[in-house]
Amino acid sequence: MNATAELILKPGKERSLRRRHPWLYDTAIGRVAGAPAAGETVAVRSHDGQWLAWAAYSPSSTLRARCWSFTESERIDAAWLAARVKEAVGRRAHLAAASDALRLLFGEADGLPGMIADRYADQLVVQFQAAGVEAHRDALLDALVAATGCANVFDRSDSAGRAREGLAPAFGVARGAEPPPRIAIREHQRRAWVDVRRGHKTGYYIDQRDNRELAAALAGRAQAQLGRPASALNCFCYTGAFSVALAAGGGDVLSIDSSAEALALAQENWLLNGLAGPAGQWQCANVFDALRALRADQRSFDLIVLDPPKFAASHHHVERAARAYKDINLSALRLLAPGGYLLTFSCSGAIGVELFQKIVAGAVIDAGVDAQLLRRLAAGEDHPLRMTHPEGEYLKGLLLQRLS
Ligand code: SAH
Repeated sequence: MNATAELILKPGKERSLRRRHPWLYDTAIGRVAGAPAAGETVAVRSHDGQWLAWAAYSPSSTLRARCWSFTESERIDAAWLAARVKEAVGRRAHLAAASDALRLLFGEADGLPGMIADRYADQLVVQFQAAGVEAHRDALLDALVAATGCANVFDRSDSAGRAREGLAPAFGVARGAEPPPRIAIREHQRRAWVDVRRGHKTGYYIDQRDNRELAAALAGRAQAQLGRPASALNCFCYTGAFSVALAAGGGDVLSIDSSAEALALAQENWLLNGLAGPAGQWQCANVFDALRALRADQRSFDLIVLDPPKFAASHHHVERAARAYKDINLSALRLLAPGGYLLTFSCSGAIGVELFQKIVAGAVIDAGVDAQLLRRLAAGEDHPLRMTHPEGEYLKGLLLQRLS
């Protein structure tokens, strides 16, 4: 066997690893000893030779290595990977009561950098987003099948991040049989169709589960307070998961999205949930324009959900994204009835909780309304944040109530 290749860091660059931060950028590396292949496990050492971590090497990426382990006696082999998978799946066991759509592996948070695995009923969907997990693809797939008892795994490694890692997109069956065109999942009392081939991410926004449950409860609370169904507006509705929750809570819902395909599935989800009345109200439009048009029509709503796509792809886009978040939140606040609730989100990792709150506060001031922050919101427990890896935080939300 060849000797393990080594990354020798520049002086001082060992500090973040000593704090067990899992990422190593190219600029931190002084020298590479040996000729590691993409995804190969390397030893990371400080400039004076002290062992620091086992990491997966990624020669194409500026994020040159991602750490597997900070324990020298560990060996990164199939058994080690299987143990991480089994532990991660086990930690989510209690969530099965809430939903059969769960994120089972969440990359760095679960000690498997770049690895995503979601479960939709009996179907698994994976994304290998880094060279390290790609190099161990078979071991990880075997471990997932063993840990879950699910025989069918679909690979949705078609996201943009793969190119940075020097990996070609991968899309198709990884284990077992082809998935059906759509899979019915259960989330709390509600159901949804998930298309794992064409849907966003691995098919569905699993991370919003708790916040949809909150939206349903708020619709019920508003109805009780108002003595009539709450009027609700769901912006960026995608396949209508928040719409169904709002309607199940008794809300009268208008939903907006620019994707006709998403809206078509949303309407089927409405029917799947046996919701009464006409098949909801759906508008295929740009939310930025639609909110202005609703204002021109002097509409108002008791409950508004704003769950836009990621406006800031990276730190370079923060300013422009901040303006876009401000714009939609300002428009939404102008439509919010006194006493009404606003559930507003950002899934941009580059926009931190504090900045997001500041942006929304600015919108409150410019809208000339008064509002209280009732709760800060985040992704569900199956999307944990590793305390040593703050970059893993992405979804943040605020529940505001407009004062009378
Ligand atoms: N709230 C959804 C997820 C939203 S994903 C859920 O819980 O499932 C973001 C959605 O915004 C996508 O469906 C996309 O089609 C839509 N979108 C993106 N830009 C838009 C725009 N400017 N106007 C309207 N919809 C937009």
